[in-house]
Amino acid sequence: MEVLAQRREPSPGAISRDVGPGSGGPEAVLDCGAVSSMSRVDHSGGRVGVFGGTFDPPHVGHLVTAVNVRHGLGLDEVLMVVANEPWQKVGTRPLSPVEDRLAMVLAATRDLDGVRASDVEVRHGGPSYTADTLARLDHERPGTSWFTVLGADAAAGIETWERAEEVARRSTLVVVDRPGVVVDLPAGFDWCRIEVPHLEVSSTDLRARVRDGRPLDFLVPPAVLEVIRDRGLYR
Ligand code: ATP
Ligand code: MG
Repeated sequence: MEVLAQRREPSPGAISRDVGPGSGGPEAVLDCGAVSSMSRVDHSGGRVGVFGGTFDPPHVGHLVTAVNVRHGLGLDEVLMVVANEPWQKVGTRPLSPVEDRLAMVLAATRDLDGVRASDVEVRHGGPSYTADTLARLDHERPGTSWFTVLGADAAAGIETWERAEEVARRSTLVVVDRPGVVVDLPAGFDWCRIEVPHLEVSSTDLRARVRDGRPLDFLVPPAVLEVIRDRGLYR
C-alpha cells in the first residue's frame, strides 16, 4: 500500500512543535492535545496502548515506538498484542508459529517498564481482528481508556479492517509519524498523531538477514536473538 508522505504544514488547531529530525527535542504530540492533557486529570480506569502486530520477529522499531508512545501520551502501559492469525498476511508468506512469535515478544519486553506482551489474541484463537481484541480487553479491564497504536502503513489501510468503525469507537487511534513528516490518512476517523524516532528496520528484512547469515545485532534485543537461535527460526 502506498503511503503518501509530505512535509508537515502547520495546521490550525494542531498542537505541533517544530521538532525536526535530529533536533534532540522531545517527541511531538500532534493533534493529541485533548488526549495528553486529559491524562493529567482523568486517570481513573487507566490508559493503555494496544500495539498489535505479527512481530515475526519483533525489532527495535517496534520497541522504540512502544516506549515513546507510552511516554508521549502518558499511558500506564503499552501492550504488544501478538496476532494469532494476521488475516492480512495469511497466505502471502509462511508465518512463524504464534508460540514462537509470542516467545520473542515476551523476550523483547521482559526488562521493559510499561511495555508488555499480550496473548489476548492467542487465547481467543482464529483470525485476529482488533475490534474483537478491544472488546475482549475491555471485558477483562473495564473502565480502561484504550489507544490503538498504528504505524503509518497500518493506519493507511484501516478502511480494509474488519469493523474499523468499532475500533475507532472503542479506542483512540494513534498513528506514529516519523519526525517532520506527516502521512495522509483515511478520512472519517479521528486520528491522534505522535512523532517518534523512525528506525528503518522491518521484520521482512530481518528474516532475510537470518536466511543470508547477515547479523541482526542491535536490530533486535539480544534476548530476541537468543530465541531466534534456540528455536532455529527463519532458516
Ligand atoms: P513485516 O516486514 O513482516 O511486515 P513489520 O516490521 O512491518 O513486519 P509488523 O508486525 O507487520 O512489523 O508491524 C506491526 C506494527 O508495527 C504495525 O503497526 C507497523 O506499522 C509497525 N511498524 C513496523 N515497522 C516499524 C518501524 N520500523 N518503526 C515503527 N513502527 C513499525
Ligand atoms: Mg509490516
